[in-house]
Amino acid sequence: MPHLLILAIPVPPRSLEMLGELTEEREVATPFGPVGPLARRQRSGQNPGVWILPYFGSPTRTDPRATIWAAKDLGVQRILAVEGMVGLAHDLTRGDMVIPVDYIDWTKHQPTTFFQQTGAGYISQKPPFCPDISAAIRQHLPRARPVIYLGDEGPRHETAAEARMFQQWGAQARGLNLVPETYLAKELELCFAAIGLIAAHGADREPARGEGEVRRATREVLEALPAIFATLPDPPTCGCNHLQDSARQRGVLSNDWRTWK
Ligand SMILES: [Zn+2]
Repeated sequence: MPHLLILAIPVPPRSLEMLGELTEEREVATPFGPVGPLARRQRSGQNPGVWILPYFGSPTRTDPRATIWAAKDLGVQRILAVEGMVGLAHDLTRGDMVIPVDYIDWTKHQPTTFFQQTGAGYISQKPPFCPDISAAIRQHLPRARPVIYLGDEGPRHETAAEARMFQQWGAQARGLNLVPETYLAKELELCFAAIGLIAAHGADREPARGEGEVRRATREVLEALPAIFATLPDPPTCGCNHLQDSARQRGVLSNDWRTWK
C-alpha cells in the first residue's frame, strides 16, 4: 500500500527527490470536492511509494473530509503529516522538532464527520495519533519532542491572550492542518500521525529570530522519511484499521466504505 505524505510546510521541490522518482500525478474526485494534484514518488525497488500532497490551512483549504476520502480511495493506510507550527511553550523556538501525542480541537466548524446519520463516528481518541507511525518517528527523529497540539483553523494568528490560554490548557504547539484530519482518518480506519517543525513563537512572545533553522530542520525530516516509512510494521500492529469493527458487527456499517455515511 502506498503512504500519504501531507506537506503543510514549504519545501524546495528538488528536496522531494530523496523520496524517489516521480512516477505519477493525479487529482482525486471525492464527494467533498477534488483533492490534488497529488504526486507519487517511488524509490527504485521499493514499492509502493508515497503520495505527496502539499497542504495549507486557509479559508480556501481543501475540505478535510475530501483529503481523507482521497487517501482511502488511493488505497493508502498510513498518513503522515509534516506541518509548520507555532511554538506556544516558551522553550520551543524556530527549528525545534515536535511530535503531537494528543490534541485539543479549537476549530469552530460545525461538527465534521463522515457519519452525520449513523453516529458511527463516535470513536475513542485514545490513542489520539497512530502508535505505529509515532514509534517510527521517535526512532528516526529522536530529537522530536512530544507535545500537546492545539488544532486551530485560522486564517488569522492567535492573539496573545489566546496564546496564554492555550498554554494554561496544556497546549504546547498550535497548527491548522491536523484537526479534524486526525479524527476523520480514524473514522475511515486510516493511520494518522504528524511531525511538527516550529516556525514561529506564540503571540505572547517576541517574534522568533534566526534564519535557516526551519529549512535545515525540514531537510532533516525529509531525509528521515524513507527510514520512517521502511520501519512501519506490515501488517499494522496499531489497530487503526479495525476501529469500525463494532459498527460493522452491529450492522451500522457495510463492508463497502464508500457507502458509509
Ligand atoms: Zn495506525
